[in-house]
Amino acid sequence: MKITDSHAHIFPAKIAEKATISIGQFYDLSMNGVGSAENLIKSGDEIGVSKYLVCSTATRPEQVHAINDFIHAEQSARPGVFYGFGTVHVGLDDIEAEVERIKVLGLYGIKLHPDFQQTNIDEGKMLPAYRLAAEYKLPILFHMGDPRYDYSAAWRLANLLEKVPTLTVIAAHLGGFMAWDEAMKYLPTGSVWTDTCSSMSMMSPDQAKILIEHFGFDRVMFASDFPMWKHQRQRDVFDSLGYSDEIRQAIYNDNFCHLLKIKD
Ligand SMILES: [Zn+2]
Repeated sequence: MKITDSHAHIFPAKIAEKATISIGQFYDLSMNGVGSAENLIKSGDEIGVSKYLVCSTATRPEQVHAINDFIHAEQSARPGVFYGFGTVHVGLDDIEAEVERIKVLGLYGIKLHPDFQQTNIDEGKMLPAYRLAAEYKLPILFHMGDPRYDYSAAWRLANLLEKVPTLTVIAAHLGGFMAWDEAMKYLPTGSVWTDTCSSMSMMSPDQAKILIEHFGFDRVMFASDFPMWKHQRQRDVFDSLGYSDEIRQAIYNDNFCHLLKIKD
């Protein structure tokens, strides 16, 4: 069985420790190891992960350029293993220019964290950048949910998709961390992609199956949210749902390949 981790965070060595601690504090979680590329691969190797979507979000506009250069360097250092998603920030002078640069760098999409970035998903200032991402066929991976905040609410993503229907989006965490009822209520099915991280292991198996089947077996991708969670536990939880090999292969690997149009 081929396995891809479709949502993992890596940080430059210099800040990996600090960044890991601050994410842990934000979510009040103990993190599983510092978020370096080496530790990611070590954890993924335990369950045979062969490909990773790697990303890192900018909390300030001045970080964007360096983060995108870092993700590009990591992707270049591990071709066919790391698939990098760049990032942007609403505070950039020229958001579209950075989308353009992400395209030129050969990154595979864009990751945004509305809560860390304190920016509503459907923020009007972001629309031209979303339209450009749609034109370039760059999918956007949105952190979703978290009832403590409204920035990443499911209804905002639904609103954005009405404005930019050609945009491909991945609504992370089965559509919304700790806000799964809203995800089911507002997110359209059949077009929105999603991942299993920071969600599947926090609910009953029955609830996980309801959400997976809501989005569709061809739209759900296995993920760890490393360094939040270790891979082994995510694999154990997913396998315990009892899906057939065909469905497991789609969610473990093939859907990711279809989305990014890469060989499996
Ligand atoms: Zn994330």
